[in-house]
Amino acid sequence: MAVLEILKFPDPKLKKKSLPVEKIDDNLCQLVRDMAETMYSAPGVGLAAPQVGQRIRLVVIDVTPANQPKNLLVLVNPEIVSTEGECTWEEGCLSVPDYSEEIKRKEKVTVRCQDLEGKTVEVTGEGLLAIALQHEIDHLNGVLFLDYLSSLKRALYKRKQKKEKEKKEGKQL
Ligand SMILES: [Zn+2]
Repeated sequence: MAVLEILKFPDPKLKKKSLPVEKIDDNLCQLVRDMAETMYSAPGVGLAAPQVGQRIRLVVIDVTPANQPKNLLVLVNPEIVSTEGECTWEEGCLSVPDYSEEIKRKEKVTVRCQDLEGKTVEVTGEGLLAIALQHEIDHLNGVLFLDYLSSLKRALYKRKQKKEKEKKEGKQL
């Protein structure tokens, strides 16, 4: 197993639409294990394949609180098939470090996907799981939570990021 590098905004690979997984083989299972390890060590509650530079429709999620046994969800080719209600949730993203913002989401979602045996399954989530499902599936479509913000808020984030980068580079001199 290996902890993979997580791509950060504004990496152009994060804006690409990912392609369906065609074949569930050993390579895919290895990637799932590496993605899970990467997510747990970050730590995060979800990770999508394009965040580690793999342009395929694959997501791992675990929203269990840290003091409880792990419950890894692996979603191959996930698709939202129904939604209910609306809510606002403060979201962050492993690809957008040190930033969070309130985003409007569906309160409850049902996702159809395949598991690692290739079987079609449905996952219904509320609360944090519903948010994670929507957030990670967005990644597969090249969408970041920043895309939902007003252009003013996005500009502020970019400015903050630029300043921090300059600060970091300054230190290395
Ligand atoms: Zn994310």
